[in-house]
Amino acid sequence: MTASSTVLKFGGTSVEDAAAFERVRAIVAARLPLHPVVVVSALSRMTDALLTSVDTGSADGLAAHIERHRAIARHFLTGDELRKIEREIDAAPGEVTALIGRLDREASERAAIRDEVAAFGERLSSALLAAVLRAGGIPARVVDARRCIVTDATHGKADPDIAESERCTRAELMPLVQAGEVPVLGGFIARAQSGATTTLGRGGSDYTAALVGSALDSREIQIWTDVSGVLTADPRIVKNARTIPSLSYAEASELAYFGAKVLHPRTIQPALTRGIPVRIVNSRAPDDPGTVVTNHAELWPGAVKSIAHKTGITVLQITSPRMLGAYGFLRAVFEVFDRHRMPVDVVTTSEVSLSVTVEDGAGLAPVVTDLEALGDVTVEPRRAIICVVGEGLRTTPGIAARLFETIRDINVSLISQGASRVNITFVVDEDQVRETVARLHAALLDRPGLAPSGRPGAVERRAARAIRSTNDPIELARRLIDIPSVSGDEEEVAGVLAIHLQGLGYDVDVHEAAPGRPGIFAHSDAPARLVFCTHLDTVPPFFPSSEDDGYLYGRGACDAKGIIAAQVTAAERLRAQGIQDIGLLFVPDEEKGSLGARAANALPAARQCRYVIVGEPTENRLAIGSKGSLRVTLRAEGTSGHSAYPERGRSAIHTLLDVLRDVRAIAWPRDGYFGDTTCNVGILGGGVEANIIAPEAHADLHIRLVTDDAPIRELLERTVDGRVRIEYLSHTPAVRLKSVPGFEHCVVGFTTDIPHLSNWGIPLLLGPGSIHDAHTARERIAHRELERGIELYTQLGRTLAMEAGTAPIAATGTGGGGGGGGGGGS
Ligand code: ADP
Ligand code: ASP
Ligand code: MG
Repeated sequence: MTASSTVLKFGGTSVEDAAAFERVRAIVAARLPLHPVVVVSALSRMTDALLTSVDTGSADGLAAHIERHRAIARHFLTGDELRKIEREIDAAPGEVTALIGRLDREASERAAIRDEVAAFGERLSSALLAAVLRAGGIPARVVDARRCIVTDATHGKADPDIAESERCTRAELMPLVQAGEVPVLGGFIARAQSGATTTLGRGGSDYTAALVGSALDSREIQIWTDVSGVLTADPRIVKNARTIPSLSYAEASELAYFGAKVLHPRTIQPALTRGIPVRIVNSRAPDDPGTVVTNHAELWPGAVKSIAHKTGITVLQITSPRMLGAYGFLRAVFEVFDRHRMPVDVVTTSEVSLSVTVEDGAGLAPVVTDLEALGDVTVEPRRAIICVVGEGLRTTPGIAARLFETIRDINVSLISQGASRVNITFVVDEDQVRETVARLHAALLDRPGLAPSGRPGAVERRAARAIRSTNDPIELARRLIDIPSVSGDEEEVAGVLAIHLQGLGYDVDVHEAAPGRPGIFAHSDAPARLVFCTHLDTVPPFFPSSEDDGYLYGRGACDAKGIIAAQVTAAERLRAQGIQDIGLLFVPDEEKGSLGARAANALPAARQCRYVIVGEPTENRLAIGSKGSLRVTLRAEGTSGHSAYPERGRSAIHTLLDVLRDVRAIAWPRDGYFGDTTCNVGILGGGVEANIIAPEAHADLHIRLVTDDAPIRELLERTVDGRVRIEYLSHTPAVRLKSVPGFEHCVVGFTTDIPHLSNWGIPLLLGPGSIHDAHTARERIAHRELERGIELYTQLGRTLAMEAGTAPIAATGTGGGGGGGGGGGS
């Protein structure tokens, strides 16, 4: 099996015009090392136009859409490629007209003809995208999805034969992936056993992507769309809806099923079966982390993660005295739905009646007629389902009461808690949907971020007041921990902290390191010459705080939040001692790419600062050095063949193992100051099957530098000696840091934001907590250590302030004066 393909699915909005195609091309190009398999929807609105042409019996409405395809082709292509694709595009309206012409003669074939017509959207978009990718130097090849996905003959919403689809998909795509080509197939369309074209239901391209990912056992299925992931509510209704960083499969499938259009409801099943992560990402903002859906359920404080809604619902109520104590009644009712192939969403029962919701539609009348044979039937059209989702609903008492209290004046029916227990659903009138969703979102999900102006709103002020009311650093750390801020999601913690610091009397400047990713700089009127700095973000997954006698636990306890609390408290103590030129700088993204530090480096205030005390867990020792980092991928290529005849091929894995053995034997340089260079082989991948000679293999290395990177590259290149390809991914230099008498010193092996804060004066590195607890599932900080950290920050701040000549009164005796050794700079 292909070990490491990644499915990239682009929705209609991601391929609407030439600019969108250009974005897609860049996204695919940047992901070639992931062995992409591309699934693409029809251009936006194309499927609607095709279906309308069937309904109206005329292909006239297609002209404008055909022209869009042509314009994209002309924008990117020339010569034969252009001629070929233009021929295909130009032929489409004629073929559609011919199909429509058959409608009268072959009325029984209407559904089949509809699918055949609808298929033109994805047929054209995939051919066009493959050509555009090729024109950009990507070895793309269009594959007809109807050769891969095999279904039953339910036209309009066909059911795939999973085993057969997997077999065909592997046969079609694996050779291409192995040969380094990028297959491009249309989503949504498939074939029945008979060979007829079928479709997987509206929005079904997501489902195609999942089926393909599952067949290839892909590393990840990426759904590229026009929003940055699954949001806390439909953004068309709730303007300040936020991205949910992670969802469990159960949560995602409830949301999709109950109306979150961003994901087709059936997408989750194939991914779940094989445990493949599904990531929802924004083609307009490809660096946003989006939402990842996995097995792992992250609990949110307050339990609720998102609110979905689905309009166009009819409630059917069947009342019958027969139901009282009778068995067989429910079966009889559901047999009616079964017979008409009508899915039922929500069901509730009372002693004598049964209520169900179904989607509005033409098929309803015959169902009602059949149900009337079983009891009195009332039909309530124009209803909507609201679905509140969150893994925490399983365990959070009182949430339902809070939820319904919020909308107590809205008429609610059919309340039910799904069997998966991650949702609560109920029905309201369709015209009350917006109001209901908006109110629930405000009550359950509006968490304090920053208002667009950077000024806090009412909610933020309330949240910050809760924090401000404490000057106990452990309590502050704890409350900060409880605001999730996995990289990419720092807005809320930044907002709360900004207001907390304003409450302490600081001027707080908020700047955006990236959209929705603020950093904050707090200072007094005087220029800040001494700045405490750490990061706002944490590694995933979030987990909330807890405490025992000795320790505070939770994500960020020692790596971010505990340190923020220590720095804020130390700054307060220094100000109380009359040292006013203190600043506090808290930045996003340290755990990812140091975007926050880079942005902060451009702030004018940086130039006025003499010393920046960066906080990372160093076990309260002052780090006089931080090793550098060099990230490298080694990529081996071989020639595949039958494993029984190894002499006929060349195994990439064998080559890579030989190289790795030699790399591991390298005598890396040691430095008297920094210690040893170390090299970790962190990821190994490659191969196809045990009985195939591996055509490809790769290894990801992380080298910790104690020297310049040049000699290390040279050693590596000499050892590898051309046997594998070396790709250098990133490089951070080792930095020497200032030592200060009176402090215990150390060298740390990890990298920090320091190299990106070069404008902020001389860097120092100190913090409570241990790096060995950071990034683990038992992240913690000892109460005593946190308290000691505050003392050391205060002592260090005072020492440096005296050195800078800005301390007002003689020293209190701690730390003494004058910094020695090391010298600063990075
Ligand atoms: P694509 O063309 O990429 O398949 P869709 O239109 O199918 O895109 O889905 C994306 C749209 O889903 C978004 O633009 C948004 O309006 C809508 N949507 C509804 N609910 C949600 C939600 N909870 N989170 C994100 N998007 C949602
Ligand atoms: N093009 C199809 C639709 O509009 C499928 C999809 O986009 O996912 O429904
Ligand atoms: Mg979609």
